[in-house]
Amino acid sequence: MSSSHEFSQVSSDAFKSWSRCKRQFYYKHVKRLQWPADIQHFRLGRDVHKLLDYQARGLDCDLLLSNAPRDVRLSWQKLITHPTVHLPVLANEWAFHVPLQTEQGKMEWATGRIDRVARSGNEIWVIDWKTGTGVPRNPEADWQTRLYLYALVEVAGTPSAADLGLNIDGPLRPEQVRFVYVEVKADEATPVREISIEYNQAKHDATRQVLQTILSQLAVEEDFALPDNGACPDRYCSYRSICGIERMSLASV
Ligand code: SF4
Repeated sequence: MSSSHEFSQVSSDAFKSWSRCKRQFYYKHVKRLQWPADIQHFRLGRDVHKLLDYQARGLDCDLLLSNAPRDVRLSWQKLITHPTVHLPVLANEWAFHVPLQTEQGKMEWATGRIDRVARSGNEIWVIDWKTGTGVPRNPEADWQTRLYLYALVEVAGTPSAADLGLNIDGPLRPEQVRFVYVEVKADEATPVREISIEYNQAKHDATRQVLQTILSQLAVEEDFALPDNGACPDRYCSYRSICGIERMSLASV
């Protein structure tokens, strides 16, 4: 395996894979090996996100809703009564690119797309709607949480903020922002769940450091090794049949 690939843009999913298993990162983000996916797994999330995009733009959602499946309508009925949906929107489906310098002096870009940036009192919230999937088990440490908060603070107040569609004047201190997961289940009984994560300068500095370290490691990586302990860290990983972890486990018996 070789690292003769350029990683000019690295997403939160790539950072997640890298932190979890370098071999998984290799298949997913170097070789871009994707098995065919069933579109039905993404339908609910896609449809609800589309409705939220309409709502953020002040467009009429009724036509979309009149043709929507029951699970979409149930999710929407709960979401539209939740206060986060009605906070003043500063950006919706906000795509960011944050530059980071590696130890080799190379410029790389961390990228992502934030569902919504909204103002809540004196704070700016990064909002992520969880429809088809649940909130990460450890949301504070999750790469999506960390990278999105980092990106918002880094981009706010820069000349490129407006070009990127971020409607915020001036820089933000990390203490002014928070990440809010809003989880909605497509049933009548389960209430909307809101998980809120505070941010601060120490977390911001730590994220910058670890992002730079990972990007610097990526620049010279050649092995993309399996976990040293031979234990697979992701039981849902789709590369099990080809990665070699099962042969490794058998060899250690
Ligand atoms: S199955 Fe496990 S060990 Fe193999 S690539 Fe995936 S995460 Fe890594």
